[in-house]
Amino acid sequence: MQIQHVRVTHLDTSIWGFLAEREKTLPLVTPLDIYNQYRETRGSWFWDSGCAIVEIVADDGTSGFGWCEDGCRAIKPIIENHLSRLLIGENPFEVEGIWDRLFRASIPYGRKGAALEAISAIDIALWDLMGKATGRPVYELLGGPIRKTLPVYASALHPVESVNVCREAENYVEQGYSAMKTRFPCGPGDGSRGMAENEAHIARIRETIGDDVDLMADVYMGWDFHYAVRMCQRLEKYRLAWLEEPFLPDDLISYAKLRKETPIPLSGGEHEFTRYGFQQIIDMEAMDILQPDLRRCGGFTEAKKIAAMAAACGITVIPHAYCITHLHFAAATPNIPMVEYFPLPIWAEPAPSTWQPLFIDEPVPAQARVTLSVQPGLGIRLKRE
Ligand SMILES: [Mg+2]
Repeated sequence: MQIQHVRVTHLDTSIWGFLAEREKTLPLVTPLDIYNQYRETRGSWFWDSGCAIVEIVADDGTSGFGWCEDGCRAIKPIIENHLSRLLIGENPFEVEGIWDRLFRASIPYGRKGAALEAISAIDIALWDLMGKATGRPVYELLGGPIRKTLPVYASALHPVESVNVCREAENYVEQGYSAMKTRFPCGPGDGSRGMAENEAHIARIRETIGDDVDLMADVYMGWDFHYAVRMCQRLEKYRLAWLEEPFLPDDLISYAKLRKETPIPLSGGEHEFTRYGFQQIIDMEAMDILQPDLRRCGGFTEAKKIAAMAAACGITVIPHAYCITHLHFAAATPNIPMVEYFPLPIWAEPAPSTWQPLFIDEPVPAQARVTLSVQPGLGIRLKRE
């Protein structure tokens, strides 16, 4: 079998689904909160919603597709002007060699960022293609399933009005979630008043859900080291299961120092790329939980290596965000205990009828668990229109 075509299509839709549209205006601390002009909303500085769909077609007509975020429309030129040259004529089953050649060939402009997102989308397409060619779901090709259904945690709880936060948290407990994640309202730009606000937000949720439900909190890179130390002292009594991305992904020294200052486990990695990036996190003992995103870190082929490296150091992997690639990966990886899911909060307006999901047949969790289909490949279809 040989790769015959590589097609890249840009769509003005976010890979994060309806959440991305909502998060443009929802309150949450971000890395740009220290700049007054960008404090109000993430939408004030975030790129336009966009994704790239990469379709790889083999000479027998079998095809697979992968995707990644593409707000800047950089993916199509990277693949069409360069990477596709290293794909045409290759055997799509030889993913290790293909990945290594794409990575080596893109070093001067790649290593992290958009080039790695392009390689990730290609790799995801190749695994989908291999599944379709063999009639097997991707999790089987990866050596799974190790479980028939996967637990998901509820990831939402933006710091909106407190009555809605409490209603929302309560609703997740009623839906059977045993873990949920919130976002913080404030960072160093908001002074001491913001610290009290952050603490009150966490205290409110903990009081609502009781002690038997895990609570996590995402800083989305919005703090600095001293702020985080003081904030963690205030938060320890609420027994957070993890504190996510307190700092920029390159500031590993702050992560490592904060781990020595607080018993709260630290997580991160959604903005990290390749085994080399994750090896630095592991070497510096910077995090307790790694959260690779397969649409950024290098696809299945690279994520397998990252998960194996984590397993050898007693580090848990919990992939970033809900998507079908992460479900297949979790179903085949022993050190992934659960997957992130973005439920629509009970107080929120549902997506307008004009809003279209990217995929058909993506599984939806029920009672905080999700069951994978036995369809070949990734088991989903692209909405064509
Ligand atoms: Mg996060």
